[in-house]
Amino acid sequence: RGVTPEQLLEGLNEPQRQAVVHAGTPLLVVAGAGSGKTRVLTRRIAWLIAERDAHPGSILAITFTNKAAAEMRERVEELVGRRARIMWVSTFHSACVRILRKEIDRFGYKSSFSIYDAADSKRLMTLVARDLDLDPKRYQPRAMLNWVSNQKNELVDHEDAVKNAKNHLEETYAEAYTHYQRRLREANALDFDDLIMTTVHLFQAFPDVRENYRRRFRHVLVDEYQDTNHAQYALIRELCGPVTGAGPDSPAGAGAAEKGVEPSELMVVGDADQSIYAFRGANIRNILQFEEDFPSARTVLLEQNYRSTQTILTAANAVISRNKGRKAKNLWSDAGDGERMVGYVADDEHDEARFVSEEIDKLSDAGSAKPRDVAIFYRTNAQSRVFEEVFIRVGMPYKVVGGVRFYERREVRDALAYLRMLANPADEISLRRILNTPKRGIGERAEACVEALAQRERLSFWEALRRAEEAPGIATRSLTCIRGFVEMVEELQSMVAADERADVILEQVLTRSGYLAELEASEDPQDETRVENLAELVAVAREFADEPQLGPSADPADPDPATPGLGDFLERVALVADSDQIPDQPEDGVDDGGVVTLMTLHTAKGLEFPVVFLTGLEDGIFPHQRALGDQHELEEERRLAYVGLTRAQRRLYLSRAVVRSAWGAPAHNPASRFLDELPVDLVDWRRTEAAQTSWNRPVQSSLPSRTAGPPTRRFGSAAVRADADAKARTREVPSLAPGDRVLHDTFGMGSVVTVEGVADKAVASIDFGSQGVKRLLLRYAPVEKL
Ligand code: ATP
Ligand code: MG
Repeated sequence: RGVTPEQLLEGLNEPQRQAVVHAGTPLLVVAGAGSGKTRVLTRRIAWLIAERDAHPGSILAITFTNKAAAEMRERVEELVGRRARIMWVSTFHSACVRILRKEIDRFGYKSSFSIYDAADSKRLMTLVARDLDLDPKRYQPRAMLNWVSNQKNELVDHEDAVKNAKNHLEETYAEAYTHYQRRLREANALDFDDLIMTTVHLFQAFPDVRENYRRRFRHVLVDEYQDTNHAQYALIRELCGPVTGAGPDSPAGAGAAEKGVEPSELMVVGDADQSIYAFRGANIRNILQFEEDFPSARTVLLEQNYRSTQTILTAANAVISRNKGRKAKNLWSDAGDGERMVGYVADDEHDEARFVSEEIDKLSDAGSAKPRDVAIFYRTNAQSRVFEEVFIRVGMPYKVVGGVRFYERREVRDALAYLRMLANPADEISLRRILNTPKRGIGERAEACVEALAQRERLSFWEALRRAEEAPGIATRSLTCIRGFVEMVEELQSMVAADERADVILEQVLTRSGYLAELEASEDPQDETRVENLAELVAVAREFADEPQLGPSADPADPDPATPGLGDFLERVALVADSDQIPDQPEDGVDDGGVVTLMTLHTAKGLEFPVVFLTGLEDGIFPHQRALGDQHELEEERRLAYVGLTRAQRRLYLSRAVVRSAWGAPAHNPASRFLDELPVDLVDWRRTEAAQTSWNRPVQSSLPSRTAGPPTRRFGSAAVRADADAKARTREVPSLAPGDRVLHDTFGMGSVVTVEGVADKAVASIDFGSQGVKRLLLRYAPVEKL
């Protein structure tokens, strides 16, 4: 496909062009928000393929989310065509999973290893604490896990952790770390942080493997470099080191750098002012010291912002300039001043949500913005609930990104545990999770007998189950139940071995295990919701199986990519992130205005929207309570504010509530200090104080009050679930007709196109706008008629 160099450089300014065409040495692009860093990175990939004859398979590009990866891949394909498909564009985690699936047998793992998420890890750590007889009050699994995670992000393995321990607490933590790793290994499982650390260790332990990847990836490009942690940094260093000739296909003994094989070219782009993941170990030093780490590096600065109006930029610059020890930047825009920002002080959070919704309506009526152009940001997920209540009431189409943690629901986790145990029988956590779920007569006593056998004979738990008749003291009745279970699992495993589709296996799991039947027989309305969620999970699996090219792990280099297996599905699910739910842009021609997007500030990184509402600007909310007395944390919050402000292209709204109910009690939070940091003349305050003083006005809530939980608990999803349960209690199959508007838990607002069948059998085709048209069995689908 004949794309000319001019076309590849079209719409780039001079420094941007330089970054795209730069060759030969490491390249750092540092620049403020919206200056085209991601655009440059994307164009550079196209340039490498089209102009520098780079083989697409020799390119590794790292983005912060799977969604961003998909978009980048698409852009590059638009520019240079389908051959770009085989490049690796992915997150650090996905890239490491791909490498490990191929290479981890070197460490004695099976390539079918499971990936444990936070909840699995916590369960495992709880088992460890029990093994070690630790006082759960002093040694909370969550705290120990955090500690372990930090160690892993710093590439400290458990042996070194033991050596490094300086006091009793650390000794205990290190011991827990050791046991935790042992159990992970026995389960043939890796946790999230392991994915990176293990890859680095693999490269360090096996230079020939590292060499292969160094030869393979001639170009490594990293977006959002400011948020890399030490382990990710080390991974990049491993990949971009010199090619020494230790690879298997090179002549033996060729120790010196081979002629013609240069180290891979590294390009990183980022903005130190947008570093917002310190709590996950991100290390701002990586970007600040790039030039020291890579002495031959060339640095390109970008100063023109193409995203926002000057007003928005001036505001963002004013806020971030309060941070100490940062390099001042000169970010400007020639988009003109644009509108002033709009400020609003609400009586309470309901009033704030009402204001936002009315304002969106006004913009919409005036033709200045469609719902899709609008994003609402808040500091914590829990804040989405009030917006949802108002939006549902007024019929505003919306989508909460990351609010409802679908994959954290009990029934979804159970179903996935079945699948994971089938794919990886060594996965003890998953196996034990479903051993007696639904109840099948394998009680705790029987489980303990099997465990005793496993320990005595040094068997995996699964092996021990298969030989349960040898278990000391096991009851005959339990034995019969275990035999039935083993038989069922083996039958299901044969489907996996035969490469059956994930959705088909899942359906078989749900029926043969009796899981679905138990839920369906239940009188508990919650169980009805659970059935719906499982139907949704089957639909997700089906969609995945039908669209193999979208699987992050489906190797595009695979000559026969039409066979994503169960493992691919599990991987997709394991690596799903909040931002992956951001609605896509509309297909050409169909434009219904789309949906308003609600998300946390963290999820908003890298994105842009014509209209942004930055809400909850109160000290104690944003900046977060925790940060109020801590300079470092406060600076991190300020960077988060900078990220939020710079997402806006044309209009920016800032709001706060005088009273906000938290844990059942109303809290009076002062205005966010970030508001005081904005130049006064840039904000048009629609309202500067509450209409009535808060003490003579009852705080209203349209939801029944809930009992307060510990302040760390995210109650957004719980609230939504409670709503769904309330709905399920009163709900029958909704009777729908074409044209009806509905609300779906996952897809948001939609309109009914057709309905076939009646009552329990009714199937509706519903158009969810940017989410596409879905056919749903109404008995199961979590839809509500509006
Ligand atoms: P962030 O720091 O938020 O990640 P960024 O530096 O990656 O921002 P981009 O997202 O690449 O910035 O670009 C911001 C916007 O400006 C995008 O809409 C992009 O298409 C546009 N843009 C970038 N460079 C140019 C240019 N030279 N001419 C016109 N538009 C541009
Ligand atoms: Mg970017």
